[in-house]
Amino acid sequence: MKESNETETAIEHKKAGSSPFILSAERREKLINLASDLIRLPSENPPGREVLVEQYLIQYCEKNNLHVERVPVTSNRANLIITLPGAKENDPLAFTGHMDVVPVSSDERSRWETDPYDPVVQDDRLVGRGAADMKGGLACVLFAMSEYARSSIPPSRTVHFLVTCDEEDAMHGSRALLEHPLMNKLSDLVVCEPTGMTLCRSSRGRTFGELVIRGKTAHGSRPGVGVNAIDIAADIIRSLRTLNVDVSPPTSYWQPLSIHAGVEPDIIPDVCRLRLDCRIMPTSSCDHEIARLKRMLDEIERVHHVKTEFSVEDKREPWTTASNHRLVLRIHSLGAFYETTFSGSTDANVLREAGLTPVIIGPGDLSDVHRENESVLLEDLGRAFSLYKSLMR
Ligand SMILES: [Zn+2]
Repeated sequence: MKESNETETAIEHKKAGSSPFILSAERREKLINLASDLIRLPSENPPGREVLVEQYLIQYCEKNNLHVERVPVTSNRANLIITLPGAKENDPLAFTGHMDVVPVSSDERSRWETDPYDPVVQDDRLVGRGAADMKGGLACVLFAMSEYARSSIPPSRTVHFLVTCDEEDAMHGSRALLEHPLMNKLSDLVVCEPTGMTLCRSSRGRTFGELVIRGKTAHGSRPGVGVNAIDIAADIIRSLRTLNVDVSPPTSYWQPLSIHAGVEPDIIPDVCRLRLDCRIMPTSSCDHEIARLKRMLDEIERVHHVKTEFSVEDKREPWTTASNHRLVLRIHSLGAFYETTFSGSTDANVLREAGLTPVIIGPGDLSDVHRENESVLLEDLGRAFSLYKSLMR
């Protein structure tokens, strides 16, 4: 579509790692308004209120001439597949983003300087829950698709936007997509999670589960008779640290995320439950890290004469996309983007199981998300929109 040079003043990037993407003041405002509309919908997960965003997006697609398919996940949660037909139908390009945001706890809310669900623009940033993770990214893809839908020139490849629920929890949304027949037709996948507009062609994986430690109960006055499961848990937590520095490079790491034990003030606790979480570097794998944990637990069992059981609840394998993959080369041809490894896990860890090849690049910085005063640079929104639109060209 034709864009006027006279009005293209708002966003120009000259620093290293940036690209000379330009967006007119009018389009910039429309993009910010769309991101703000999405932030106003508190699609918190848990409990999983994505339906608010889902309804908004369905209406947006109807208004903007985009095809939308609702893919039910549970009785009240769904994914959306938004489609923009391209000049050629085979070899489509996929984008993905999630509708849910992490909840704002009452503690966190007290640290916000503004209402998290009443977005504001401050110091060249859009502030609000989900501004970076990832209503901003959703808005950038949608806005790019809607501009093509209004234009007489279609994108070169058909574009499918996989909009998921439940990314912030068990990823039931992307898992449900694995069963969808469209997955057989997709290969290139752009994940629009916040990377500060660096290109992540590798991502950490994650595995987690519950560890049950079984000691021996006794009267609280007879510690020598019982085996205190909390004491054993303390040893295990200390040993996790040893496990972490044992790796080279030392960046896959285990950590405890919750602990439950104790029934009564005068009883030596015989059961302790720990939730253990491991973030896994692309050079490792879920099974490798679980095997290392189990070797450490065997040693604890041998020394302390206790029983431990670790039940794996999820495995999200780390991944790397080749530096010469066409999607990576195409993105680098559109600007000078630094490369980093994504430190979290995303729907890409799941969607890869369908044979998709992902990269992650999107507006916002991980250090600003899942916390008070979450925000995204307006400059990032402009750059993400321009990049996504160029990729659709
Ligand atoms: Zn996210």
